[in-house]
Amino acid sequence: MRVVLLGPPGAGKGTQAKVLSDRASVAHIASGDLFRKHLGEGTELGRLAKIFMDRGELVPDDVTIHMVLERIAEPDAKGGYILDGFPRTVPQAEALDEALATKGQAIHKAPLIAVETDELMRRLAGRWICRACQTAYHEVTNPPRQAGVCDRDGGALYQREDDKPEVVRARLETYDRQTAPLISYYEKQRKLVRIDGQQPVEAVTAALLRAVGR
Ligand code: ADP
Ligand code: ADP
Repeated sequence: MRVVLLGPPGAGKGTQAKVLSDRASVAHIASGDLFRKHLGEGTELGRLAKIFMDRGELVPDDVTIHMVLERIAEPDAKGGYILDGFPRTVPQAEALDEALATKGQAIHKAPLIAVETDELMRRLAGRWICRACQTAYHEVTNPPRQAGVCDRDGGALYQREDDKPEVVRARLETYDRQTAPLISYYEKQRKLVRIDGQQPVEAVTAALLRAVGR
């Protein structure tokens, strides 16, 4: 199972990818998490990525593609994966397809989690993330049992710098301009499945499981 999860920032990609990867026993690969790991480790890639992330812009394709293709080649991704946040541009999608084709592989499905802009703003403004496992909570709709503490591993929760409203607006514009064209890219390949993301988490999960044939 090789799946690309599409959707704007705040649609619930990370939340759903975590559940789906557990249920289907495949890897969850999130490009944003990979960049934040580099940032935390103070690598050169992390420093470069930060410049773009802080502005709500995309990290350049060449470094992003290289980072994700390397990650996909790791042993835990052999049995399949859910890509969360990648591809985000048409050149990224083309590079992914080309790399897979050389191995006789392909992406199976590209579910699109659709959520309206006002709801995205509310979701990102109230998002808290675990520093250890990256699980996302929401202070209103999906609070942790104890404020500031992850239910799964007791990790500390924090709010992302780029979840501030000014940066969120830029990220949503970036999505419309650079990522939304992927909808027709996967539609042409007959892999796109539209999912109503404005339902409770469990209902979205059920729709996604149907979409990927599980
Ligand atoms: P993305 O990875 O697409 O940016 P997240 O999975 O981090 O989105 O979710 C964004 C925010 O919305 C988080 O605070 C999360 O708890 C919350 N959230 C996710 N799915 C839902 C849902 N179906 N209904 C309400 N809130 C949700
Ligand atoms: P969200 O979960 O809210 O959709 P991400 O964690 O996926 O956000 O991404 C955070 C930031 O990391 C993006 O705003 C962008 O700067 C960078 N980024 C993540 N994935 C990509 C990608 N595929 N291409 C370019 N930049 C990316």
